[in-house]
Amino acid sequence: MKDVIHLEIGEPDFFTPVHVLDAADVAARQGWTKYAPSLGDPELRAAVAEKVERENGIKADPKTEVIITCGGMSAIASAVMALVDDGDEVMLPDPGWANYLGHVLMAGGNPVYVPLKEEKGFALDPETVRAKITPKTKLIIVNSPSNPTGGITPPDSLAEVTRICAGAGVYVISDEVYEKLVFEGRHYSPASDPAVRDWVITVNSFSKTYSMTGWRVGYAVAAQPVIAGMMRLQEQMIACPSSVSQRAGLAALRGPQQCVTEMREQYRRRRDIVVEGFNRIPGFSCQKPPATFYAFPSIKSFGIPSMEFAMTLLEKTGVATVPGRAFGPSGEGYLRISFATSEKSIEEGLRRIEKAVSSGALESKR
Ligand code: PLP
Repeated sequence: MKDVIHLEIGEPDFFTPVHVLDAADVAARQGWTKYAPSLGDPELRAAVAEKVERENGIKADPKTEVIITCGGMSAIASAVMALVDDGDEVMLPDPGWANYLGHVLMAGGNPVYVPLKEEKGFALDPETVRAKITPKTKLIIVNSPSNPTGGITPPDSLAEVTRICAGAGVYVISDEVYEKLVFEGRHYSPASDPAVRDWVITVNSFSKTYSMTGWRVGYAVAAQPVIAGMMRLQEQMIACPSSVSQRAGLAALRGPQQCVTEMREQYRRRRDIVVEGFNRIPGFSCQKPPATFYAFPSIKSFGIPSMEFAMTLLEKTGVATVPGRAFGPSGEGYLRISFATSEKSIEEGLRRIEKAVSSGALESKR
């Protein structure tokens, strides 16, 4: 289709910061174009260990407890494949990032959804998690801040979830790729609690924080046996992440962080436009997401399945969104709106949706 407003893409629209581009350019010319160790560039692993200790309160040995991966994606995929055997149950947030489901199925695991409620800010509820644990449960994936809802699970609840899981012998993958995109509230890393540290695999990435999606570089921090299992998989599947991308990652971690603040402030402004805009359109209701670049407005009052709603919006108005159902059964009745796009596009998207609603294009099936 021509003239589409893209509110569906979960990818920062900014350029990778110039100092990162420069560092990669220099590194490539210096010969960082060969294979790297399967565990990742030792200097980057050291920088990651320093970062997680300084910012997340996690102590990790860079030689054995840190692995550099091809983005958060391959960190999660290899952690799931290293830990999950056929028939193991894996608890997933619902709604949650759709790829978790693929990772679990790929490893032969059985997904068990843990519903998140809008009225609780889409936070993970410790008692709901406790009730889902069975003798077959191997793992839970937690994601705070969350894609697709933009919600944050409060630190005390996340700590409680981790204690419950560790106590039951259940591993926790904590996907923290949106940690820097917090507008209100606080990010918490469950592995900062030494009592549960060895049960937690902390995953992070350069993609969202530094607008580096295409560089494919991320990392995981976990206990040595888990990292060793992930490394064996990584060695067979990819040998190592791109050497030059790892040097770019090093520059991102060690360089100035003002770029992160600037991007976050732009997302905050856009978030306010999105939330105000949807709440103005009759039929929508939209909570203010405290983090990420996603809003998750409810379309329940229209009485139209989210897939059909998103298709109608696209066909009638040229505005692309993601149906909430794509993120699990509890995502039905919502749309995911990405505001990783310009204010101009957001305003045009809102204008078109408002016009479609007022002209009755989404009315007939109400
Ligand atoms: N985790 C979540 C929740 C995401 O939304 C994404 C990307 O959209 C990722 C992980 C993986 O991103 P990457 O592999 O680029 O680090």
